[in-house]
Amino acid sequence: MNTITLSPMKKQKNIALIAHDNLKPAMIEWCKTNKQILEKHFLVGTGTTASLISEATGLPVRGFNSGPLGGDQQIGARIVEGKIDILIFFSDPLSAHPHDPDVKALLRIAQVFDIPIANNEATADFLITSHYMNEEYPRNVMELKK
Ligand code: PGA
Repeated sequence: MNTITLSPMKKQKNIALIAHDNLKPAMIEWCKTNKQILEKHFLVGTGTTASLISEATGLPVRGFNSGPLGGDQQIGARIVEGKIDILIFFSDPLSAHPHDPDVKALLRIAQVFDIPIANNEATADFLITSHYMNEEYPRNVMELKK
């Protein structure tokens, strides 16, 4: 088995933001509420989510492709490269999506790389107010046996 050593998360975190269409208003409100915290970190997101958050809050959010066009996969690839520390993903549990396999892959790789994942607002609230947001944090990649 290959082992991977991850460098610890720095104080300033790289946060990925994704919201399915029905949850985009909630994500925008959440970003407004938490703007003072979020502006201390680096933000990326899937295409539409990123541009809506930037417009509504003025926060700089680097946008990848829209989710159905590979944005979730781009974020997953950056997790593998150690470039994303936290995933805030307001996914819609009540609608079917054409890119469900991409979402599944993203959640799996985030789990492997010990990325904190918030898939609803309550978890996002707990996560964003954690004292680890202001400190380094060592991550442990899962030991996977062949
Ligand atoms: P979007 O992608 O931000 O481009 O809408 C999110 C998604 O549906 O996965």
